[in-house]
Amino acid sequence: MHTSYSSNRTVTGNLKAPADAWVTLQNLRVGLRFLYHLPRYLQARIDSESATAILADRLRTRDAAFLRQLELAVFSWPESPYLPLFARARLGYQDAVELVRKDGVEQTLRLFLKEGIYLSVDEFKGRRELIRGNHCAQVSPKSFQNPESRYMVAASSGGSRSSGTPVLFDLEFIRSCAVNSRIVHELRGGSRWEKTTWEVPGGGARFRLLKYSLYGPPIRAWFSQVDPAAGGLHPVYRWSTRAMRWGSYLSRQQLPKPLFSPISEPRPLFDWIDQVRLQGRTPLVFTFPSSAVALAQWGAACGRDLEGVQFTVSGEPITAARLETIRSLGGTIGARYGSVETGPLAYGCLNPTAPDHCHFQSDLWAVIQAGEEGAALGLRERSLLITGLDPRAPFLFLNTSMGDEAHLTNGSCGCPLENMGWNLHVSGIRSIEKLTSAGMTFAGTDVIAVLEQNLPGKYGGIPNDYQLVEEEAPDGRPLLKLLVHPRLGPLDAEAVREDFLAGLGSRTIVDRLMETAWREAGLLTVERRPPLQTKQGKVLHFHVLGSKVAPH
Ligand SMILES: [Zn+2]
Repeated sequence: MHTSYSSNRTVTGNLKAPADAWVTLQNLRVGLRFLYHLPRYLQARIDSESATAILADRLRTRDAAFLRQLELAVFSWPESPYLPLFARARLGYQDAVELVRKDGVEQTLRLFLKEGIYLSVDEFKGRRELIRGNHCAQVSPKSFQNPESRYMVAASSGGSRSSGTPVLFDLEFIRSCAVNSRIVHELRGGSRWEKTTWEVPGGGARFRLLKYSLYGPPIRAWFSQVDPAAGGLHPVYRWSTRAMRWGSYLSRQQLPKPLFSPISEPRPLFDWIDQVRLQGRTPLVFTFPSSAVALAQWGAACGRDLEGVQFTVSGEPITAARLETIRSLGGTIGARYGSVETGPLAYGCLNPTAPDHCHFQSDLWAVIQAGEEGAALGLRERSLLITGLDPRAPFLFLNTSMGDEAHLTNGSCGCPLENMGWNLHVSGIRSIEKLTSAGMTFAGTDVIAVLEQNLPGKYGGIPNDYQLVEEEAPDGRPLLKLLVHPRLGPLDAEAVREDFLAGLGSRTIVDRLMETAWREAGLLTVERRPPLQTKQGKVLHFHVLGSKVAPH
């Protein structure tokens, strides 16, 4: 066993993955189970020694954890969507045991990939049928919900493309993640930092608050970018925030109500930061990179700084331009890579060679790149394929793409995260699924460079001031708009458009072809309005409106 925190497992028994997570009865059951388990969860805090011991133990028993996951996700689960893939490859559990013993976890995963055992992001999200040879199945995230997970805490997936995949977490999984979060905070110098989060309801805020509650000072405040009292929010979010507060009253740790701190005027968050600093303590703010930039921008306009403020940022590309804006006001950034479906996958290097250089959490997850084998199957070579190693994770991931690609290296950086046994480095992380429009896929990094460097360099403003938005015309035609924030004053829209296209076309021949295609199709117009936020409060470089599915 990787932890000793599962003693209360039999109280409610293991429930099957919900057929529809949002039916009222299910909500009620999730809520009551959460309320029942929360006080005990909050009381069993994680200290430094036990965190280190748990991590070392997980790394030592990693091969066994992987085999146990294969049993859980495939061989002892008759409904497993992976089972037909293994049958087709004529691979059984004993073969996997042999392979792991001989070649280790990652080599085994590469062999699985070669045999067609993987999921593209479109297959996982149900946008495309899962077809391997004669096997054909329609799956969705629900098909991969972990039957061993006791769902208690609701979150929702990010992204602007879909209406959001429901994600429910087991408290024991949050505890597993808290172990690593505590270690990383301690190595950053802050096991006593005053932690808060600034997101939107329906994101992962509850996940984080519950994780942060297991070590360091109690959470004294947390912030929402939209008014928590506003309508339009799914009742389950309001309900589970309330349940979290009720449950916390029963333990010694009371979790406060969220405070409204809008992205356009984040005064309440800034006031809290000032208050913490006045007490001689260090504030740590979890938020999105674009939100941290917005906070810095608002602070600069009011003559307030971010001296001594620590950030953990995630959920969007962490670029040099964004980092610079935050650092120029004195803030310090710790990167994090993860998704709502998985929780954290990697934490920022303390001696980074790239803005988003992170150490992969190889005790809880395994990862390989698609590589040549994957490319032969239609995946992009640098696509990350994720495999879960924790038995309580919300979804059973096995060589599953979450739509991201990145550099993956084993080199040495000399930072303390490496000494903990996290030796795999990930950087240059970009989403590949959001950058296809009008049938043309383009390299996200190039678009980001033009939006963050070329345009602000020529027309002023900061990275958050420019955004590419795809909308749908009434006839279903995609319309691409380059949004430019009105606060930049009068600009020649035609010149901005030309510079954007020229910036894209200056990079590769493919980009030049695409630039020409866009120009000829009259695809791109410039509009003067503030960039849009997703439901999760992110300002993506490329934002898709409407409900259409990915065009590939
Ligand atoms: Zn490092």
